[in-house]
Formats: sequence, C-alpha cells, structure tokens
Amino acid sequence: MAQIRIENLRKSFDQFTAVEGSTFTIDDGTFFAMLGPSGCGKTTTLRMIAGLELPTEGKILLDGEDVTFHRAAARDIAFVFQLFALYPHMNVGENIGFPLKCQGMGRREIRERVQETARMLRIEHLLSRKTSKLSGGDRQRVALGRAMVRRPKAFLMDEPLGALDAEFRHLMCGELRDLHDRIKATTVYVTHDQLEAMSMADQIAVMNKGRVEQIGTPQEVYDRPASMFVADFIGSPPMNFLRFEGGLRSGDRTVSFHDTRLAVPEIREDRGNAPLALGVRPEHIRFADAGAVRGEVFGAEYLGTTQIVTVDTAYGRVAARLSSSASVRIGENIGLEFNAERLALFDVGSGLAIRTA
Ligand code: ADP
Ligand code: MG
Repeated sequence: MAQIRIENLRKSFDQFTAVEGSTFTIDDGTFFAMLGPSGCGKTTTLRMIAGLELPTEGKILLDGEDVTFHRAAARDIAFVFQLFALYPHMNVGENIGFPLKCQGMGRREIRERVQETARMLRIEHLLSRKTSKLSGGDRQRVALGRAMVRRPKAFLMDEPLGALDAEFRHLMCGELRDLHDRIKATTVYVTHDQLEAMSMADQIAVMNKGRVEQIGTPQEVYDRPASMFVADFIGSPPMNFLRFEGGLRSGDRTVSFHDTRLAVPEIREDRGNAPLALGVRPEHIRFADAGAVRGEVFGAEYLGTTQIVTVDTAYGRVAARLSSSASVRIGENIGLEFNAERLALFDVGSGLAIRTA
C-alpha cells in the first residue's frame, strides 16, 4: 500500500514540454484517474511514476520516500500496459507465477501466491488452462493476476481497456473497480475516456496540454469545473457556454446577460468588464415561455429516458437534456430557463471559472 506524491514534476523532450510542473498527492488506497485528451502528457506522467522515464525537474515520493532516481524495479509498483499480453506457451498458473519465478522464489511459495491471487480474481478454476483457450475477460484477469502476484505497493494502468469494445469495456470497468475495493491498492488509471474515469475513480486529475487543470472527485469536476476546458471535456453532451461581457462584484447574485438580468450563484470575486461565459449543463435547462433566452429548435436526439434537444439562440447552439416524453417540434420557437443554482461563470480570457458560492 502506498501514498504517491508528485512535486513540481516536469518533463521536456528537447524544446517540447510534455508535462508541466504540477504538485499533488495520491492518497493510499485511492483509485486515481488521470484523464485528458491524447497527447496531454498522461503516459509520460505515469512512466515517470513507474521509473521508466526520468523527470526533467521535480520529485516523486512513495510513502514519503524520495524515489525520483530509483530504478523501476526498486519501486515496487506494477505497471499494467495492455492487459492482454500473456505468454501463450504457459498455462494460466504459470503465467501468473512467472514474475515470482523470475525473482527466484521457491516453488511452494509461488504456488501459494498464485492460488491466493487467482482466488481474488475468481479464476482458480482456470489455473491449469492454456491461455489461448481463454475468453477475452479471463485473459484480462490473468494478465492482471500477473501484475498483482508480486503484491506491489501500487498499480499503474495505461488505458488498459483501450482495445476493447464498449460493452466489454463497461464490464471490465466494473470488475477493476470491484477488485480495487477488495485489495485497496493505490491505483493510478490513465484514460482519455471521461465515462471510464467518472464511473471508476475516487479522484480524477483532468489534464490539458501537460498541465493538471483540476483534481477532484467525479462529482466535483462535473459540478464545479475549474476551467472551461474541464467543463467541456467532462459530460456528454458537454457544458454549454453562452458568451457575454460584463463586470462582476463579490456578493452579486445576478449578472447582466445581454439585455436581461440572470440569477446566478453568489459571486465570490471582483472582475472588471471582461468577456465572460455562462456555463450551463444540458440537464439544467427547461423550456419555459418566460425563459431568459429564446431560440429555435434545431434537432432532437432520442436517448431512451431522455432526449438531447439542440436549440439555436442568438448566443450559439445550446443543448438541453429533456425528458423523452416532452414533445418538441423542429423549428419551434421556445424560451429557455436555466436552473440558477447550477450555473457556472468563466473568464473567457483565462478560461478559468469565476469563484461562486
Ligand atoms: P498521452 O498519454 O496523454 O496521450 P503522452 O504522455 O504520451 O500523452 O505524450 C505527451 C506529449 O509528449 C505528446 O505530444 C508526445 O508526442 C510527446 N512525447 C512523448 N514521449 C516522447 C518522446 N520520447 N520524445 C518526444 N516527444 C514525446
Ligand atoms: Mg498515452
């Protein structure tokens, strides 16, 4: 079990900075997701934690001990790249026990450890099977067993489900989370898929262009995004942004949005006249004749219990999530009402959220 602390960790390749210095702590036993688009520096960060890449600057501490310059093998961390890489000529038990054999552990102890690992993964009945005969899910469990058998202090997983189809990925997400709840080992899970991160993680670090933009629980990053990037990356459809200009004063409970006044959560900072954006999640919009913004219905996407209705307004196209039972006509002119308590405000220049109550 381990706490992982990252201090001002930076990585440059020649002139290019892949990871900008950030500082955060991953508490012992946490399922920690690093989420962001391709190229934002997730893998590079993970490789530095694993000891496969040397940072240009900064430190990595494992349970308080500075391991920045320790070899990967000395860190006692399991790096799970692709859960599918198994040795085809060995059976399941031999595959799982292989890392212990490489360490020179005795046969009896290896057998015990393999049994224990298989029990945790609920694959004891498969131990003497050939890996080529296994289903995709069982192959994945075996590969995970091979990472677990050394009893590492932490697991690092780099898009381990990336190659799977959606349905199977969903199943394995549930299993990984369930396994984590049983063994409680610190897990750093890298993904570009916000749904994966949202459904599995205790904490999510949202990364953009080498920088950690926000760290929080799934609910925190969804409900209180620290930046327009986070608000846009998390949630589908993403948060709507409606631009306006104005000044804000701490204590304000309304903003001057074009020619109307809109109720918002209490503002907690002062801001001179600046380009701003109102951030509205699709589920916080209702159709109402008295709504502050009017528009024309552009389209509706049926999703079962809800539908996503897109509306063209003077401030851009807005997506609203409505009940499927709501009747909507394309081309209809309607008013949009926002749930005032759930509105967010952003400074368009910096992209950062305005502090509110
Ligand atoms: P992610 O895993 O989030 O997709 P990476 O950490 O793999 O992102 O890469 C971050 C950036 O660093 C990318 O622009 C990538 O091209 C660059 N990069 C990664 N590894 C190297 C390397 N060994 N040499 C040069 N550039 C690299
Ligand atoms: Mg990557």
